[in-house]
Amino acid sequence: MRKEKGLIEIRIAGLSDGVQEHTFTCWAADFRNPELDCPELRNDILVRVVANMTESEIVADIETATLAEFSCDICLAPVQLRLTGRYRVIFANGDEPRELESEEDYRALEHGAPSIDLTEDVRETLLLSRPMKVVCSDNPECGMLMNDAAAGTDEAHSEKNSWQESLEKLKNRFH
Ligand SMILES: [Zn+2]
Repeated sequence: MRKEKGLIEIRIAGLSDGVQEHTFTCWAADFRNPELDCPELRNDILVRVVANMTESEIVADIETATLAEFSCDICLAPVQLRLTGRYRVIFANGDEPRELESEEDYRALEHGAPSIDLTEDVRETLLLSRPMKVVCSDNPECGMLMNDAAAGTDEAHSEKNSWQESLEKLKNRFH
């Protein structure tokens, strides 16, 4: 049975060493993954892969870009953000991986593999490019409220600490 072709797959059989660039256009739904199945990622996704092949390894630099449709966390106004992500996957012939950076991954290269599948890596790159918080820029109050909310958590934290401190003192008094 023939293996299903990956969404982001690069053919390496018969290629000579050097740098090759590949571009793909896809949709979040193409990944068939619940994590990417969100209303924000409704526009097309551009994926660029620059693969550098040498005798011992293939270094694949992944770049993703898409226009995401968020809503402001405070006022719910629509916010369009350009999301870009980067990731590097190093495929090598079973050698010990060298020291990896945080946004790098190492994969053993199957001997005689005709292609490398980067679908999962592109999915990860997309997920990592999503912001934790989204605030609109049209309404200056939203940015202020967001900062207050962040400060509020700090306050609550120190409050708890001083409360715990008092509790400790209280305990000591009764001992
Ligand atoms: Zn807002």
